[in-house]
Amino acid sequence: MNEDGEVQANRQSLVEQTLSITVDQFMDYIQHKKSDGPCESCGSIRWIYVQDNGCPAIMGTPNVRNYATSNWFFWMVCGSCSSTRLIAAGPIWEHYFVAKEISN
Ligand SMILES: [Zn+2]
Repeated sequence: MNEDGEVQANRQSLVEQTLSITVDQFMDYIQHKKSDGPCESCGSIRWIYVQDNGCPAIMGTPNVRNYATSNWFFWMVCGSCSSTRLIAAGPIWEHYFVAKEISN
């Protein structure tokens, strides 16, 4: 496999692994990191976790410096004022997949 092919394979694996993160894993991570603290706008601690077919909803924004890549976020909505909090997908991927490879 040439270098471009290797990069493509790694990117595909990263995408598949990130999309395999379950609601339970997402919730465990949120609680472990205390990412569910009070809403910055209204102080409510009631969060709505949007799901899509049993997985946490995920969104992507294009990297305007390189449209071949994007930044991915899981998100949660304040149940009181609808303010939205983004949780970067990368660190959650690292938590479940990179750390796992190191410990195995
Ligand atoms: Zn709020």
